Amino acid sequence: MNKPNRRNVSIIALAIAVPLALGGAFFASAQNGPHAKGAAAVDAARQLAADKEPGTWMSAGRTYDEQRYSPLTAIDKGNVSKLGLAWYGDIDTERGQESTPVVVDGVMYITTAWSMVKAYDARTGEKLWEYDPKVDRAVGQVACCDVVNRGVAAWKGKIYLGVLDGRLIALDGKSGKVVWSIQTTDPKQPYTITQVPRLVKGMVIIGNAGAEYTCRGYVSAYDAESGKMKWRFYTVPAAPGEPTTPELEKARKTWNGEFWKFGGGATAWDSILYDPKTNLVYFGTGNGLSWAPDIRSPGGGDNLFTASVIALNVDTGKYVWHRQLVPRDAWDYDVTNPLMTADLKIGGRMRHVLMQAPKTGFYYVWDAKTGALISAEQFAPANWATKIDLKTGRPVENPAARYGVNKAAIVYPAPLGAHNWHPMSYSPRTGLVYIPVTENNTGFEQTPPDKFKINARTYNTGTISTSAGITKLYAEPGAPPRGNVKSYLQAWDPVAGKEVWRAPNPEFGPSGTMVTASDIVFSGNWSGEFLAFDAKSGAKLWSAPTQANVVAAPSTYVIGGEQYVAILVGARGLPKGQVRTNALSANNSRLLVFKLGGTAKLPTTPSSGASTISATLNPPLFTGTNEQVIDGQGSYSRLCAGCHGAAAIADKSIPDLRYSTLLRSLPEWNNVVLEGTRANKGMASFRSLMGSREESENIFNYVISQANKDKATEEAKRSR
Ligand code: CA
Repeated sequence: MNKPNRRNVSIIALAIAVPLALGGAFFASAQNGPHAKGAAAVDAARQLAADKEPGTWMSAGRTYDEQRYSPLTAIDKGNVSKLGLAWYGDIDTERGQESTPVVVDGVMYITTAWSMVKAYDARTGEKLWEYDPKVDRAVGQVACCDVVNRGVAAWKGKIYLGVLDGRLIALDGKSGKVVWSIQTTDPKQPYTITQVPRLVKGMVIIGNAGAEYTCRGYVSAYDAESGKMKWRFYTVPAAPGEPTTPELEKARKTWNGEFWKFGGGATAWDSILYDPKTNLVYFGTGNGLSWAPDIRSPGGGDNLFTASVIALNVDTGKYVWHRQLVPRDAWDYDVTNPLMTADLKIGGRMRHVLMQAPKTGFYYVWDAKTGALISAEQFAPANWATKIDLKTGRPVENPAARYGVNKAAIVYPAPLGAHNWHPMSYSPRTGLVYIPVTENNTGFEQTPPDKFKINARTYNTGTISTSAGITKLYAEPGAPPRGNVKSYLQAWDPVAGKEVWRAPNPEFGPSGTMVTASDIVFSGNWSGEFLAFDAKSGAKLWSAPTQANVVAAPSTYVIGGEQYVAILVGARGLPKGQVRTNALSANNSRLLVFKLGGTAKLPTTPSSGASTISATLNPPLFTGTNEQVIDGQGSYSRLCAGCHGAAAIADKSIPDLRYSTLLRSLPEWNNVVLEGTRANKGMASFRSLMGSREESENIFNYVISQANKDKATEEAKRSR
């Protein structure tokens, strides 16, 4: 399929011989069609026929079904061991890199942390242009889960970018110059965007994030040429007196109290999927604000449309159906995870389905047109519910998971989820979905309502993750080990509702996936590897060093008859034992591109540039007091946990503070926390949010105490 048809090639070569001779920059790959290099000439017809151009990776999910399945077969099980680095590009940020490379008309487009775009010649790696929207680094404070970006979309010569500060920007595909730029959010509100814009019928569709920061979720469609808004759909009811709709008035009946004062939440921050067969656009929504339901809606209520999948008519933005997966969510069970459509043979007949592996640990298969629930089998350990009732679609909950004031609960999955944003993939050949699964748990207890104070610049969960009650539960026999337990690449049969194989990760950490028609699954890990697995058996076929943790998903394309595989690497700190080799990035962020017989090599000599995160857990001795730790724990939960993780254990792409070299110097710690000396990296000053200088010192001592505890646990494990 990837081998050029000789006859066609010669015809194309003849047809373009004249413009080439005249110095025209025509691009003549048989796979990519007769578009000029950098044309970014995607339109509805071309995107719908993406399978006719298997050598192009036209959008982040490749096709509208977002299966992330490539029909390419040049790299197969027989030769994958010969994959080598073709070229690489150093990335100049040290935050998480989450984007999937889009490759169209010979050019690769990626985004990096801080919503920056880079365009490369996809064959040579020559950088053609880059664009920096110059996001105010203070926005990093309200980006719950790092200042990341998951990629661009190409459409009719333009490249579309969602920016962390809420802008939506159209760039010229050839030059990277701004064509138009609009603000999709109220810039005074703590909204952020990390999502891929979706291009459908000449519209750009985009949502936003901020459900922990007093935001009210919505998804909007804009005219791709002018940036003019076509429709907007809000996900939770408005404040009294504000414009409303019939479905929002129905949703209002599922809320109590003055929930609008907290914004409501339910932001649609990742998945958006357009299905040409149903003419619907689907997206998932996040948590309500606060996480604790008794604070946001005292006395009950399902709180629509939080934690729901919503289907709209794509032309009008009008409501068609919704399915709430977690009524009255209490555990940050966002349903924003990647969505995918597929045609599956279920019960002897073909069904056109919508699928999702949400945080909750239950894999959903719906009829794509009607939303009828077909199955919801458990794909990862979960104790909050025993099963999903297929008749009502409601979970059969475990009452013990409903925490309260002075009522602790250990719940799994934790807010990181059994699966988060990391893209999964589906192969129609194997019939399997390849899911990056994480097993984790956390303790919950509710903040007393009179102690809950809303602050738009901090995480407002209404919960505490450390308390005497939670500690007691974790000490009980049969309690799970606290925090992140393990992670693996899982092959899931969505028809049988069963795991077929799993490949365990050596270190905890999810990484996006892609599968090809030669039955190879590509994915990274958090031990500094990019790997290929047999899609049928899970056997490891190949791996290459990345020198960095990998969270993004790969893509694959053909140029000049050669198949390439591209992946962005870099997140959190460095893999164990890895030194910094990229002077521009403390976590060795890079774009890596592989091909058969590639001979490029990553540098191995340590680069200049101070690392602020050490690769091993080696904290200074704890010299604080118990009172400092207790106070620091409370402040940490309120001010730091949202980004840096509960119990000081990073579960996102942001650096793990237990490994921070700042723990060696309180004055330097205070410079960062109070004076904002790393504000240009996104760690703005917290002075205005802290009651006193002591609060910073208490958090410092709490993190050192946690780091020492965890180091002792690790050592005990090793000596066992
Ligand atoms: Ca959330």
